[in-house]
Amino acid sequence: MKQLMRSLKSILLFFMIISLALLVGIVVQQNKSQRLLLQSSNENKAVLHSRYSNAGTIWSADMVRLAYSKDGERHYAENSELARAMIQTVGDYTHNIGNTIEGAYQDRLIGTGRSFIQQLTFDFTGNGMTGDDIILTVNSDLTLHAQALLGDSNGSIVIINYKTGAILCMVSTPNTYPDNVVNWTDIPESSLFNRSIAGAYAPGSTYKVVTGIAWTESEQYDPNYTMYCKGQETLLGPGSVTEDRGEDAHGEIGMQTAYHVSCNHFFGDIGMKAGAELMQNTAEQFGFNKPLSIGRLIGKTGTYKAVADDQYLLSWQSIGQPIENNELTVSPLHLAMISGAVANHGIMMQPYLLKNYISPFGNNYETTKQKVFSQLDSSAGVEVIKNNLITTVEQGRAYGSYIQGYVIGGKTGTAESVNDDGDLVTNSLYTGFIDDPYNPYAVGIVIENGIYDTPTIAGSILTKAIELNLLN
Ligand SMILES: [Zn+2]
Repeated sequence: MKQLMRSLKSILLFFMIISLALLVGIVVQQNKSQRLLLQSSNENKAVLHSRYSNAGTIWSADMVRLAYSKDGERHYAENSELARAMIQTVGDYTHNIGNTIEGAYQDRLIGTGRSFIQQLTFDFTGNGMTGDDIILTVNSDLTLHAQALLGDSNGSIVIINYKTGAILCMVSTPNTYPDNVVNWTDIPESSLFNRSIAGAYAPGSTYKVVTGIAWTESEQYDPNYTMYCKGQETLLGPGSVTEDRGEDAHGEIGMQTAYHVSCNHFFGDIGMKAGAELMQNTAEQFGFNKPLSIGRLIGKTGTYKAVADDQYLLSWQSIGQPIENNELTVSPLHLAMISGAVANHGIMMQPYLLKNYISPFGNNYETTKQKVFSQLDSSAGVEVIKNNLITTVEQGRAYGSYIQGYVIGGKTGTAESVNDDGDLVTNSLYTGFIDDPYNPYAVGIVIENGIYDTPTIAGSILTKAIELNLLN
């Protein structure tokens, strides 16, 4: 008994350490944005004001103005909810937020960043001083819906088109209004931090998507393999994976049911069977540890480092719960990309946010070219896991995301972390997709500090995407 208590204490300590590390990461990010603020306050605000007084417009994909200049003033979306939902992406002309469209594309918006030939043409026609407009891939209605779903929570919702990589929606809360950012007043804590592309969260059970693919690639893989789930008992002994949900053990269980009930013992077991090397390799095929730029913006994929000689740690990683310094994190955008790759036969598209520019002549040009970001070696395995995610929505824990008449696949997750007050809290996650050529959308959701019904939130935002008929 004493031995068990000691082991439980050391597990708890492990969790606290990893959670603290994540928390410190967020604090460092916040301090960094503060520093950037100080630097930009040295950049004369009056100069920036005049620089953007005639800058180009930033449009949503459905041609709603997200930023525009009129009578010498820079304005943001007329709908204040849309303006706040886009704040960390569109940014502000004072550059109080780093890594935004306003800042990163300043030269194009004010008309200085073109090629020599382009500039010459515009100069000859008297348009040389006019900036380009930018059309983003995000839809304004979908963005507003995500903002409403997130409400007062801290979190993020990302929707991508998994066939093209276009980001259709990314909202990070808390957020604040552009005027507040420009005047540097009433900025809620962490509201300038773009969780969607820069967040780093323990993936929890959403990671079972990756573990499942690794298992299908393993030499030991057998589609009919079953093992015995011992529930609240540990899988290998003190320190290894357990299930503490206050439920009965799952008993003899195979992969499909394991997805439906999110069985920790099963995935801990098959992750160890797949082995550290294959787990590492599969994570990297899914884009883990790979630098990610979204046009000129810097994004973040997840990080993963398998532990070769520690089966206990590997069993925890296999269920998405890292217990040493940050060996396993994921961003909300990356969560959407993971499901998207599963839906898209193992092809993960490069995410992008900029659809095209509009020249001073009024024509669209420099349309972003679609390209592959990463590709899974397995093709048969991907289809197996895809079907398991679909039945997890039809019959399992992700049922809340079921949409009548559509084939939806998805996986929920929860992962512990320490909040600002030092309390151990749970983050709720979801990754999923619609299997439909006319609605090829994948979603990634993270909501911090609580158990949220992420499948229902996913169902709601995906239903909205279908209703909007975005491809037409
Ligand atoms: Zn189980």
